[in-house]
Amino acid sequence: MIGPKAITLNCGYDGGLNLMVDILSLNIDELQLFMKDLGQPAYRAVQVFEWLHQRFPAVSDEAFLFEKMNNLPQNLRNELEKQCLITSVNLEKELRAKDGTVKFLLAVGGEPASSRVYIESVLMEYTHGNTVCISTQAGCKMGCIFCATGHSGFLRNLSAGEMCMQVYAVKRPVRNVVLMGCGEPLDNFDATLRFIELITHPKGAGLSQRHITLSTCGLVPEILTLAKYKMQITLAISLHGPDDDTRQALMPIAKNHAIKDLIAACHQYANTTRRRITFEYALTEGVNDSPAQARALANLLKGLLCHVNLIPVNQVGLTKLSPTKKHEAATFASILQAANIPTTIRRTIGAEVNAACGQLRAANTDSKLKPV
Ligand code: SAH
Ligand code: SF4
Repeated sequence: MIGPKAITLNCGYDGGLNLMVDILSLNIDELQLFMKDLGQPAYRAVQVFEWLHQRFPAVSDEAFLFEKMNNLPQNLRNELEKQCLITSVNLEKELRAKDGTVKFLLAVGGEPASSRVYIESVLMEYTHGNTVCISTQAGCKMGCIFCATGHSGFLRNLSAGEMCMQVYAVKRPVRNVVLMGCGEPLDNFDATLRFIELITHPKGAGLSQRHITLSTCGLVPEILTLAKYKMQITLAISLHGPDDDTRQALMPIAKNHAIKDLIAACHQYANTTRRRITFEYALTEGVNDSPAQARALANLLKGLLCHVNLIPVNQVGLTKLSPTKKHEAATFASILQAANIPTTIRRTIGAEVNAACGQLRAANTDSKLKPV
């Protein structure tokens, strides 16, 4: 049944139909079926997976070629060349900030040319290891008013392989991955889960689930489905307000998901997975940063295994939104802390390289790098 399933997931192996195989998005089980169809022994699947997810990323300056898979028989290399497309990710721009944050503008896809889109990823180098922030979609449908990606509209979902390539493209060992670049991961649910499966596989990059953070604007049914997988990843919820009115003013999608349903889904998630949930809260002057709103937030999150990340909103484009001043942010945090809710104020990282979600990509939409 792999063929039809693969087609619905839009991931690659079509079970011998006429489509090209998106080999970088296949898991080892699917690769085994593919090898079987090619008359190859099952162990070839692991060899191919290792090439794609371990060996090529390690020698990342070399262009990817099936021909270089020198422990595979020549006829298999020829067949892969004929049947597979290989996810291409071209580095268009690399900008480094003084704090060490590196932002990448990547052109993804190419065959067919109409699938070529621009996305961005960010590398943060910390002493305890590198973190990469990757995109899950080119653009986003959710339209949050503070977000550069939200302003740009939606082009297409990224495949699991395209997500992996963003991690490999930084050409450094990676310890943590955060799904906080362009796009809404739970609006691209299957590919996002597939990405987590691939990137944590011991025959590939072998990341720990605990070193992956998935950030969502709060799609309730998908959060409930995600809970059933009982993964060890960190779930981050972009909350940005303690009540429906405040959330809806900033995030149009909040009209589809009442905050009480969202918080109920978070309880369910935390109870099922025993994992602490992170709440992202972009402090915006005069919109969501009053002491009364801090008290309402403390009340809302009472009894939930969670942590609150406050981040002064990053002003993008033409929006009139301003970040909350330092003193008011500290007051907001202290109200939460007094209610025993673990809270941190995050510094803005890499603002000078447009590291806030979607800004670099937005700045490039006038150039000839525009999607074709
Ligand atoms: N779509 C997902 C993940 C991508 S956005 C989500 O919304 O959670 C990653 C994070 O950046 C989210 O918490 C989002 O709210 C935040 N963000 C986007 N634009 C921002 C801005 N201008 N200032 C501060 N945070 C922003
Ligand atoms: Fe989409 Fe997240 Fe930006 Fe909202 S904040 S528009 S959900 S990427």
